[in-house]
This record gives sequence, C-alpha cells and structure tokens, in this order.
Amino acid sequence: MEVEIATIGGYEEVGRQCTAVRAGQDVVIFDMGLNLSKVLIHDNVETEQMHSLDLIDMGAIPDDRVMSEIEGDVQAIVPTHGHLDHIGAISKLAHRYDAPIVSAPFTIELVKQQIQSESKFQVDNDLIKMDPGETMQIGDETELEFVNITHSIIDAINPVLHTPEGAVVYGLDKRMDHTPVIGDPIDMERFREIGREDEGVLAYIEDCTNAGRKGRTPSERVAREHLRDVMQSIKDYDGGIVATTFSSHIARVKSLVEFAEEIGREPVLLGRSMEKYSGTAERLGFVDFPDDLGMYGHRKSVDRTFKRIMKEGKENYLPIVTGHQGEPRAMLTRMGKGETPYDLEEGDKVIFSARVIPEPTNEGQRYQSEQLLKMQGAHIYDDIHVSGHLRTEGHHQMLEALQPKNIVPAHQSLKHLADYVELCESEGYNLGDDIHLSRNGNVISLTE
Ligand SMILES: [Zn+2]
Repeated sequence: MEVEIATIGGYEEVGRQCTAVRAGQDVVIFDMGLNLSKVLIHDNVETEQMHSLDLIDMGAIPDDRVMSEIEGDVQAIVPTHGHLDHIGAISKLAHRYDAPIVSAPFTIELVKQQIQSESKFQVDNDLIKMDPGETMQIGDETELEFVNITHSIIDAINPVLHTPEGAVVYGLDKRMDHTPVIGDPIDMERFREIGREDEGVLAYIEDCTNAGRKGRTPSERVAREHLRDVMQSIKDYDGGIVATTFSSHIARVKSLVEFAEEIGREPVLLGRSMEKYSGTAERLGFVDFPDDLGMYGHRKSVDRTFKRIMKEGKENYLPIVTGHQGEPRAMLTRMGKGETPYDLEEGDKVIFSARVIPEPTNEGQRYQSEQLLKMQGAHIYDDIHVSGHLRTEGHHQMLEALQPKNIVPAHQSLKHLADYVELCESEGYNLGDDIHLSRNGNVISLTE
C-alpha cells in the first residue's frame, strides 16, 4: 500500500500545524491550526471578515492547496488538542472537505464553539467525539487510534493511523507526565506495544519545540508545588494579590483556585477566555470547581466584580485574570494601565504562572505590561510554569518506545528542527535516509 505524508503547515514555524497522511485511497488530516502572530501583527485584522485564500497568503492558516496533489479521499480531520495552533483554522478550512472532525470530547467542544463564532465560513462537518484508548475504522485496511498523552491542556491525544505497512504516529504536543494534576498519565505502555506490533511504526511525526533543551520536562505536579510555595509565602500579605495563567490550562487554573482558598482568599476568574475554557471544562465534568466560583467574561460584569472587590477589600480575593503574555486587550494589561476599577498599590503581588512565549511580539508586549504594573508598585512573581513539550530525554524515551522506521520532525522553524535531527542521528538515524526534514507544502513518499 502507498503511504504518503503531506507536510502542510507548521514545518517552518510554530503555528498553523497541519499534516495529511494518505494510506492507499484513504487520507486523514491531523490538525488545522492558526498562526496567531501572523494575525496579530496586522492592526485591525478581523479574520472573520477575510476569505480563506487571503488568510493563507498572510501565513495565518495552512496552505492546503498541496492537497490537490494527493490522491484518495479525506476520511477524517483529527485535531490533537484544543490549542489554537492546532484547531484555529478548522472554522476557516474544514468546509472544503467532505469528512467528519474527530477528536477527544474537550477538543470537540472547543471546535464547536469556534465554528459557531465564525459561522460565515459555513463549516458544517460532522463532529465526532472519541475518547483516548478508542479506535475507529477509516478505510477497509486502516484504523485510527487515540493514545492518551499529557500536555498543557486537558484531553490531549496522539492519533495513530494503523496501516498494513505499519503505524503512522502523529506525536505533536506532549510532555511525559506520570503525575498530572487532571486526567490520566501518558500511556507509555501503549506506545511500547505499538512499537512492537506486527509491522511496527512506519513513521513518527514529532513535535520539536523543546528538542534543543537538555533533560526532562517536569510534571505539572512540580509547577503546582512551585505555585503553592509562592502563594504560601505571601499568605500574610494584607493587600492585593492577582494571578494570571493560560486560560486553556485548566490544571493550572484549578491549582490557583485551590491555593487561593488555602490562603484564605476567594478566587474569581476574570476575562473572556478564562470564562470560556474553565466554564467548558466544568460543564463537561473535567474539573470540579467550588459551586460559588465566580467566572466573568463580559466587560460590564468584570468591572462590577472589581468594584465589589475594592469595596469589600482586596485582601479577601484572588482575581485570576487573562494577560500572561501582555496581550494588549487582556485583563492584566488593562489593570496595569489603570483601566479597571481595581487599584494596584505599592507592594501588591502579581503572579505570572506562565512563561513568555519566546517570540518578539510577545516579549515586547509582556515587557510593557510588566513595566506598567511595576510603575504602580506591583511586585512580580514570574515563570511559575512547566512546559507542555518534551525535552531531549523525553524524545529519547519516545524513540526507544516506538522504534520508528522513519522520522518526520515538525512544529518548529528549520533552525530548531535541526536540534531534533541531531538527536535522532545520535540514535542511529540518518538525515536524507530515514529522517525526512520537510517544509510546508511538500509530500513525503514512504512506501511504493
Ligand atoms: Zn499545544
């Protein structure tokens, strides 16, 4: 059977991830992401108003025109998890394929919300929920399986396409967490089994985000203890404490909520995306927040909450807000500019349970936001975070588990893909032979 991989997006950048795998006449597309920095760089860009082809030209969404070179029919579109660089283009591209969108329940819910908020593209593909550990028949001879993995968002999976020529494992976005705060540990046992099944692993497509960083990415449990330590250390402070983190990082939000209560403060979630992700996770039963936990997204209800906090005393509350990257319109940035009813005072604490995404736009915006907070007297606690991506030792462990015949590095610029190529070469693989370094828009033929 012919097996091909089309590297559509995310092979020259972090963002707009998209890969198609063809096995015989059946094609599966993994991820359809957005490159947010290409959107944010233009002022006043409203992606909802733009045509798909314009978004492709500006580098915001995957250039899927290479799909015309691929034989066969697309049988499924499979996003691996709910981050925008993996699902953000579904609402703008999926209507071009007569295929269902298949993913884990939390991801499907986020995809559904996004399709509803951008209805002008008229995406109406079927949405199918499939849990980690389950499988689905794709063609006569191919089967799709979801392996449970751990990442910085709940319900993330690594899809595996089982073909007569061996398995194609789409390995994007994971860390090896054996003690996650929400959900099950990564299913390494299943990866080892797949590596030792009949035909073994024909190809492994891997996320190279941290391939240049030595050692092991710590468990979420470590970030949680770091956060607890910081919050206990300021337990006796009788002024304002504010925290920010990734809105989609439900495990971290849960830790913040619990530790707020531990130090005698009432947690409250503020900002549109805080309300969206935490509300969704709670509705689907992934997290059990206190019944009276306030979540407010609309400007008016946020301002009303800030007024109540100022009236009843800042020392009684922990606002958990958006704005960890200094995004101009996010809550913490507005607080720094003095645009909310919450007054920051000398000595107040601001906790960033996040790391700045190393990208010039983010770094500049975050610097500005921090300066504004400091000018009001705020003290900053920074970098209380662990990454969601494997470092070198995790990569070695994955290669040992899967023993793939071919490797396709993904999810980075060429410079960083090279780190992973060197790592694979140290395991006996060779560039140009069984390591396939690609660019956006190429097709790799694995079998004749
Ligand atoms: Zn991710």
